[in-house]
Amino acid sequence: MTKSSSSIEPTIDFTANGKHEGFLKLPHSVHRSAYGYIPLPVVSIKNGTGPTVFYSAGVHGDEFEGQVALCKLAKEITPDRVNGQIIILPMTNFPAARAGLRTSPLDDLNLNREFPGDPFGTPTRQIAYYVETVLMDMADYSFDIHSGGSSLHYLPTVLYRGGEAGNEEVARREELVATFGAPFAIEMPSSGLKGSGSRATMAAAERQNTIGIGGEFGGSGTVTPECLKVCELGLRRLLNHLGVWCSETPPSVAQKGDTTYLNSNSKNLLVFADQEGLFEPTAQLGNRVTTGQTAGFLHHPDTPWRVADEIKFEAAGLILAKRIPGLAERGDCLFHLGKIVT
Ligand SMILES: [Zn+2]
Repeated sequence: MTKSSSSIEPTIDFTANGKHEGFLKLPHSVHRSAYGYIPLPVVSIKNGTGPTVFYSAGVHGDEFEGQVALCKLAKEITPDRVNGQIIILPMTNFPAARAGLRTSPLDDLNLNREFPGDPFGTPTRQIAYYVETVLMDMADYSFDIHSGGSSLHYLPTVLYRGGEAGNEEVARREELVATFGAPFAIEMPSSGLKGSGSRATMAAAERQNTIGIGGEFGGSGTVTPECLKVCELGLRRLLNHLGVWCSETPPSVAQKGDTTYLNSNSKNLLVFADQEGLFEPTAQLGNRVTTGQTAGFLHHPDTPWRVADEIKFEAAGLILAKRIPGLAERGDCLFHLGKIVT
């Protein structure tokens, strides 16, 4: 482990065998609590000499499927069936997760845009720094669980960073994607969506030589059972495949053809509102759309005689995510498409 200058202190010993449940204590001195700390719940289950797997959820606090999936795993896994170590962090940006918000109410920051973080920064930046320099540093593999949060709904989709064919790390990420067996998988550009690449968890994993992928499982500010099921199955498949957890009932193995592969190698895969309005989508999740096809309309009920504005898809692809709230402003994302790999 490299020396980290983080001021976050775990209440558990990550080097100890067995199952250990506790908190990462992030010092937080405020009016109501002079010597207080923010308690990030964490579980470590360790036995034997196998690899270390780090599972995180709640990087965005309004994404709930991953938090539920990790609560279940944390209770189910027992050390006797483990060979290696599993670290579970269900509320990674704890203040945001506790408030049910995408960003932290303490500093308004989005954790997935703050890596590699800052040991002396605001709470979100300190969490980013600890996750990258301590937890990712310990991990051989990581999976960061997301969803569309309050504003989007995603089909169950695994996200991974591509790279040069023949690169060993890329091949190992692709192996995890195939093992997970989600209905969809999308290769993300290394620059990430909207240039977030180097500041997101998958980049943090890459910097620490961790084989890291992630996924989107529903959203809409709630828990969608079908998406949760895909997430839970995939997390179990990864642990069994890596030999880190031999569960009593082994999960089914993903078959070739279970996953539709998509990529981000095309412009305009994100569709935005170009003005304020009441959004009427005319395409649905999973639809395959063509360039120029109508995506929806922005209505103006305050001037009902005004003609609604048509929004068109400017690229062909499959709809992975769509906006949930009816009201939209200029700059709001309405759809996320993936380009179908032929
Ligand atoms: Zn997210």
